[in-house]
Amino acid sequence: MAFYSEEEQTEDYLFKIVLIGDSAVGKSNLLARFARDEFYPNSKSTIGVEFQTQKLDINGKEVKAQIWDTAGQERFRAVTSAYYRGAVGALVVYDISRRQTFDSIGRWLNELHTHSDMNVVTILVGNKSDLQDAREVSTAEGKALAEAQGLFFIETSALDSSNVASAFQTVVREIYNILSRKVI
Ligand code: GDP
Ligand code: MG
Repeated sequence: MAFYSEEEQTEDYLFKIVLIGDSAVGKSNLLARFARDEFYPNSKSTIGVEFQTQKLDINGKEVKAQIWDTAGQERFRAVTSAYYRGAVGALVVYDISRRQTFDSIGRWLNELHTHSDMNVVTILVGNKSDLQDAREVSTAEGKALAEAQGLFFIETSALDSSNVASAFQTVVREIYNILSRKVI
């Protein structure tokens, strides 16, 4: 007969989360900052790892996020369906200092919905908030788009770390909450 302490009975959660958005918006650096607290000033797409598993504490439970990063395929708009397969969360990233990357968000959302479950928990991320002088997309515009699309919204800076952990935590916490509601 085996006896388990309450601690040992905790379930193990593993959520696949994908990073998408135009090239050079800072996807790889958001992951590098979140998972390793690193930043690459002149990063090339080659620094990208396929995915990185990160432990998070959600309501005292250990939850693992398997965060996928593109290896630069987005330059050719050639992110494969395998990349999206099984994803339960997504960070859709643009660069607040390049409007063109914000204009692409609709296409990225279409692609996400084509390849994954409609219910994938999604946050719209306006990265490079440290570049205030070069800002081309206002916070209000980002917020409005997120509201219209039913997404969470946050502005981040992988450079100065602002809101980076929050962006990932928001997605993971919501996925966790949805699953807990289903169980009850
Ligand atoms: P990806 O192609 O979306 O993965 O973008 P990268 O993470 O490779 O970043 C592209 C470039 O933007 C690199 O030169 C980064 O150093 C820079 N970068 C990424 N995040 C930030 C940020 O928050 N602020 C600033 N100023 N630069 C950033
Ligand atoms: Mg990258």
